[in-house]
Amino acid sequence: MSVLAGHTAIVTGASSGIGHAVAAGLADAGAAVVVNYRSDEESAETLAQRITGAGGKAIAVQADVSQEPDVTRLFDAAVAAFGRVDVLVSNSGVQKDAPVADLTLADWNTVIDINLTGQFLCAREAVRRFRAQPRDGRPARSAGTIIAMSSVHELIPWAGHVNYAAAKGGVRMLTRTLAQEVAADGIRVNAIAPGAIRTPINKEAWETEAALTKLLKLIPYGRIGEPEDVARAAVWLASDAADYVTGTTVFVDGGMSLYPEFRDNG
Ligand code: NAD
Repeated sequence: MSVLAGHTAIVTGASSGIGHAVAAGLADAGAAVVVNYRSDEESAETLAQRITGAGGKAIAVQADVSQEPDVTRLFDAAVAAFGRVDVLVSNSGVQKDAPVADLTLADWNTVIDINLTGQFLCAREAVRRFRAQPRDGRPARSAGTIIAMSSVHELIPWAGHVNYAAAKGGVRMLTRTLAQEVAADGIRVNAIAPGAIRTPINKEAWETEAALTKLLKLIPYGRIGEPEDVARAAVWLASDAADYVTGTTVFVDGGMSLYPEFRDNG
C-alpha cells in the first residue's frame, strides 16, 4: 500500500516510541521520511538505514523542537534531501511530573517549551513551507497536512501532571485554531490523542504486572496500546483517505476517554 508515494514527511521525536513507529509506518506507506531526534542519533540513524535498506527514502536529522533555529534547519534538511515537505507529524514530548506545590518553574517551562511551543514552531514552519511550495505536481489533494501528537490529557485532567495536561490542552486549541486559519490554503491540521501506549515515556505504568493491572482498569478495550496502533492512524490522517478531515482529534485510546469508571455504575 503506497498511499503516501511522492510525499515527504517530517516526524519529530522519531528515535523512540510512537514517533519511531509513525516514521516506519509512513515509510511503509511510501513516504520519504525525515527521522528527527534530539539526542539518540544511533537509534534515528538505524531507523533511517532500515528504511533505505528496504528500498525507501529516509534521513536522520538532529534538532531540538523547542529551538527556533533548529526547527528551520530541520525543514531545510528535508527540502534539501527530498525537495518538498508534505506531512508534519509533530510528535516530540516529555513529562516532568510533580504535585503542583512541588513543581518547579524550570519543569513547568521545559514541558511547555517542548510539548506546546515546539508544536507551534514546527506547525508554523510547516505552514510557511506548504504555502511556498508550487501547487502543481503535489502528490496529495491537500497542500500539506499537520498531525500533532496530543494525548487523552487534552481532555482528561491529570493530577500530578499539570504542566503536561496544560500543554496538551494547548495542543488541542492550537490544532483547532490553526485548522480554521489555514483551511483556505488547502492545509489540513489534526491531532492524535493516544491513550496508554507502551513506550519509554510511561514505562512505570506498564513494566510491572501490578502496574499493568491497575492501568488496564482505565482501558475498556482491555489492552495497552502499541505504537503501531498510533502509526496506522497517522498514515490515514496524512493520506487522501482523510482528505475531508481537519481540525479534529482522533482518539487512539481503547476507550480510555469514555469515563471507564462509569461502566459499573448502572
Ligand atoms: P518517547 O519518550 O519514546 O518519545 C518522545 C520523543 O520526543 C523522544 O524520542 C524524545 O527524544 C523526543 N524529544 C523530547 N524532547 C525533544 C526535543 N526538545 N526536540 C526533539 N525531540 C524531543 O515517548 P512516546 O510515548 O513515544 O511519546 C511521543 C508523544 O506521544 C509525546 O508527545 C507524548 O506526550 C505523546 N503521548 C504518549 C502516550 C503514551 O502512552 N506513550 C500517551 C499520550 C500521548
